[in-house]
Amino acid sequence: MRVIRTITELRQAVALLRADAKKIALVPTMGALHDGHMSLVKMAQHVADCVIVTIFVNPTQFGPAEDFSKYPRQEIADLALLTEHNVQIAYVPDVTEMYQPGFATTMQVGGVSGGLCGAVRPGHFDGVALVVTKLLLQAAPDIAIFGEKDYQQLMVIKRLASDLDIPVEIMGAPILREKDGLALSSRNVYLTDKERRIAPELYKCLQQCAAALTAGGEVTSLLENAISHLLSAGFSSVDYMELRDAATLAPCTHYKGQPARLLVAARLGSCRLIDNIELTT
Ligand code: AMP
Repeated sequence: MRVIRTITELRQAVALLRADAKKIALVPTMGALHDGHMSLVKMAQHVADCVIVTIFVNPTQFGPAEDFSKYPRQEIADLALLTEHNVQIAYVPDVTEMYQPGFATTMQVGGVSGGLCGAVRPGHFDGVALVVTKLLLQAAPDIAIFGEKDYQQLMVIKRLASDLDIPVEIMGAPILREKDGLALSSRNVYLTDKERRIAPELYKCLQQCAAALTAGGEVTSLLENAISHLLSAGFSSVDYMELRDAATLAPCTHYKGQPARLLVAARLGSCRLIDNIELTT
């Protein structure tokens, strides 16, 4: 596997692949790689000839009180895992390569960025939009793959790629879970043993609420019940539990079988867990 750290080198590598008519898939990550990331890599290998995985903990998507400095970083282990999975290129720029002195551009994607994590983490999706746009311009992939684990992020990225006419296909990949239902996340390492035992309640609660909604239950009261359930299970607070249109993320006050997604963010000790589920009729 080739490890590339500069934009110039990445562009040269991509030009050679293009000259060879290779289809390129990009998998952006912040590292601390787990099987969830690897499921994206496998999907990328299925749809393209060459897979580029990026590892970059992007400072512009973290708020001042968030965990940028203590976000788990384990580059050696990550590169070994990617090598084991036959990834051809790991792109690992540092912060100064991505944000040169004098950097002054900001981005904002309206609509889908509003509410949910956009409300709780002001500026988060501006940073995500900025870094993903830069990575798409740097690597010029045919396909870029993002997990449905970060469903709102996936919708923001689909929106910006379409709005900015970036010639890339954005693909969503299903959420990979532990056996007990907890969605894999690099931040799960922050959970204490006790919190880890409580954490699967998040997905159980989503499943129960989704089943009740598809059975025709009243949306507002079912969401309120789900929040109470999480609080009594041991979550310290619930940032949101909302039913949204699957494509536009507009709030759904009624459910009549339309494509919809139930999304949740809740706090457990020092950890903030997010998850979501598709409503199927
Ligand atoms: P991150 O490193 O957390 O920024 O995640 C990088 C990519 O992996 C994003 O597109 C995430 O949505 C995706 N991802 C993270 N966890 C999972 C998971 N459990 N299942 C599927 N995709 C995931």
